[in-house]
Parts: sequence; C-alpha cells; structure tokens
Amino acid sequence: LKPTNGKKIIYLTFDDGPYKYTDQLLDILARHNVKVTFFVTNAYPEYAYDIKKEYEAGHAIGVHTYSHNYSQVYASDEAFWDDFNKMQDVIKQQTGKKTDICRFPGGGSNTVSAKYCYGLMTRLADELTAKGYSYFDWNVLSGDAGETKDSMQILARMEKGVTQNERSIILCHDIHPFTVNAIDSFLTWAQSNGYEFKTLKNGDFAAHQRINN
Ligand code: ZN
Repeated sequence: LKPTNGKKIIYLTFDDGPYKYTDQLLDILARHNVKVTFFVTNAYPEYAYDIKKEYEAGHAIGVHTYSHNYSQVYASDEAFWDDFNKMQDVIKQQTGKKTDICRFPGGGSNTVSAKYCYGLMTRLADELTAKGYSYFDWNVLSGDAGETKDSMQILARMEKGVTQNERSIILCHDIHPFTVNAIDSFLTWAQSNGYEFKTLKNGDFAAHQRINN
C-alpha cells in the first residue's frame, strides 16, 4: 500500500442497488466529479441498466450478491459461488466484462452465515483471494443499515468517521432515499476540506474485519 502523503482518502461504497434512487445518486456524483464503488445486486432487475450507467460514468463495479438472501447465498460453498457467478453474468451483460472486486453480503465478519454453513467465510475469503479477487469491508458506517433514516444523522456519521482515518471505506446503500439525500452535502463538505475520492481496485486497502465464521 502506497503512503497517502498526508492526503485523506475516501472510498465511498454503495451496496444493494441499483434501485430507483440510483439515477439521482449518479447525477449528484457527476456534479461533484466524484467516482465511487458500487457493490451491486440483482434484487431489482428492472434497474440493471444502471450498472451500465455506473460503469460508463467511471465508477467501479463489484459483486455484492445476486439474491441478497442470506439463507440461499450462505447455504453452502456451492450455493455461494452459484450466486456469485450469476451476479458476474449480470455485470458482464451490462459492462462487457466481469469484475475482480466484491463485498460479501453482511460483510466478511458476518455471523449470519454460521447459521447455515460452519466455517464458510474462512473458506470463501481464502478462495476469493486464490482466484484473484479482492473483497472489501468498511471502516466507516453511514448508519443507513438500520441505525437511522435521518439524512442529517447519516451526514454527521460520515463526517465524523472520515476524520478518524487516513483511508476511509464508507458503507452506504443506494436503495434508501435518506442516504442519497445526504450525499450532496457530504461531498461539498469533504471536497472543501481536502479529501480525495477514489474507487476501490483489486489489491487496494480493504478495511478487512475479523472473520467470525
Ligand atoms: Zn447488502
């Protein structure tokens, strides 16, 4: 990992889309000329065309999950790879190529997988690495995964979070209007305070959390 030379770097990440708020988010990002990383799903297939728009706008695309159904995705090693490969196919349809970055549903530290398949995350993390993928967790929570639905609170959590790291990977979800509504103000604040935005690439800082299964 290269030194940041005093620069503070933010990797904004959006999981679980695309969905009906994604277009609006893309407009906000374009206005600020900020590139982010989308960990995409097929939960709302009618918005799959947004994966192409994300890609063509210069954002990074990673696999999140095809179904986002924990009991399916984490039923077995085979079930995980089946779901993963189906999402790769959707990404390839939209962008013309597969991706080499991903984020586990629930993150690498999730404990929900233990309900369905013992030791799965440990094996999958090793296999993904062996196959040449990078998987990414986060070190800043926007709070939009159930903690709050208030855009001002999300903004405050993101601002506070990034002040504490040299490199911040922020977990956001573009399926929530209250998240998308916080982004314009956040970008204005971050850009006026000297933060630099980057997309996640294979081999980058990954903010890995402890694997618990
Ligand atoms: Zn998710």
